[in-house]
Amino acid sequence: MPSNDRFLPVFLDVSGARVLVVGAGFVAGRRAGGLVDRGAVVTVVAAVIGEIVAAAEARGELRVSKRPFEPGDLEGADLVFAATDDPKVNEAVASGCRRRGIPVNVADDPARCTFIMPAISEGEGYTLAVSTSGRNPGAARAIREFLDDHALELSVRLERGRRRRHLRPAAGKVHIVGAGPGDPDLLTVRALGLIRGADVIIHDYLVPEAILSLAPERTPKICFARRGATVGHGAAIKQTAIHEAMVRLAREGKAVVRLKSGDPLIFGRGGEEAEHLAAAGIPFEFVPGITAAAGCAASVAIALTHRERASSVTFLAGHEAAGKFEGAVDFGTVPKDGTLAIYMGVRRAESIAADLEKAGWPENTPFTIVENGCRPGQRLFRGTIGGLAGIVRTGGIRSPAILFVGESAFPIAGAEKRETAAAAECIQQTRGKR
Ligand code: SAH
Repeated sequence: MPSNDRFLPVFLDVSGARVLVVGAGFVAGRRAGGLVDRGAVVTVVAAVIGEIVAAAEARGELRVSKRPFEPGDLEGADLVFAATDDPKVNEAVASGCRRRGIPVNVADDPARCTFIMPAISEGEGYTLAVSTSGRNPGAARAIREFLDDHALELSVRLERGRRRRHLRPAAGKVHIVGAGPGDPDLLTVRALGLIRGADVIIHDYLVPEAILSLAPERTPKICFARRGATVGHGAAIKQTAIHEAMVRLAREGKAVVRLKSGDPLIFGRGGEEAEHLAAAGIPFEFVPGITAAAGCAASVAIALTHRERASSVTFLAGHEAAGKFEGAVDFGTVPKDGTLAIYMGVRRAESIAADLEKAGWPENTPFTIVENGCRPGQRLFRGTIGGLAGIVRTGGIRSPAILFVGESAFPIAGAEKRETAAAAECIQQTRGKR
């Protein structure tokens, strides 16, 4: 598209350049200072010398000719600035430069300029130049102020960009990456870099489209799991298929990202997968993610530990209390003075409630269930464990959902919610209210 602006934004190397500044007032002084800082050899010509220029001369930073401008001053100059308050002098400088083909800037007079000076915002490791083509210097300054206010954030983004360059996933290697609970904002910088750079992504069904779409469209994205089926014989077949695919793709020389919800090492089979890769001689690396307990607790403002109400937090897998892992979770031995974060427990909520009470947890112990935490459609249910089974039955709670139990398991009132989460939130409370 043709630009409607005749000025091409460039950054000019002025170190060692011979620069003439005509005028020695405030504006000329600032220009001269910026040039000296960048290593230019500066000469100032002016009949009257202002404070800034005089001080710079006293420091030996530039040369001053205290007399009116003469056209011969332009000889040998690489770059010229006119900043006098006499339009005739400015015009003489500008036309002399044009004749000689020397780039010239006339302060506050873009029509006479062959180059203009942008508003500049500098931060750690970057310089931003803002131009309105000289038409609206006030607006350019306002944008510069806005950029200055965001200098820290800009530096952080720059740093992220720098790191991403080093994050190209290596060929023939598998990164086992945590994708967090679902909100793309909760990815780590490293995870994002790997997702963007992968040759192929093998992901869990719990990783949402909002995260997968951060990878280029052309990146193949493979999912073996069907929604819901995470235990039993079907799960074992799927797990074998995942192991085989990772090994095959890595052997083909692909940079493989194995993307898991939450953290790969918390109820994520990351350990099993790594052992399989190690046995096959495939290099691998873990990248942590925000686990569902941490993401959901923050999303609804639950203090997993609290100096007065919870001195520990225990991560448990609810489905492991039954079936082939019978007895794997003994609610009698988990600390009662802390918070339980029970993953994959909602389908078994009724028996979990019974197990908790059998193990001596008072029936008025608070619980909160977060369904679809950190995703659009997040729902929250709370009550006391005496009413847990009833709420799960009537609430129609579906996976993924996490169950928090303990004296600190109620959300802290008054916390602000993220809009996406708050929009569809529904709060149900049992009669055993506290
Ligand atoms: N590795 C994952 C856990 C995988 S097991 C992690 O660290 O979070 C799957 C279980 O995690 C689900 O059954 C549910 O209990 C929990 N879970 C995962 N994502 C969730 C979410 N967005 N909201 C609520 N619970 C979630």
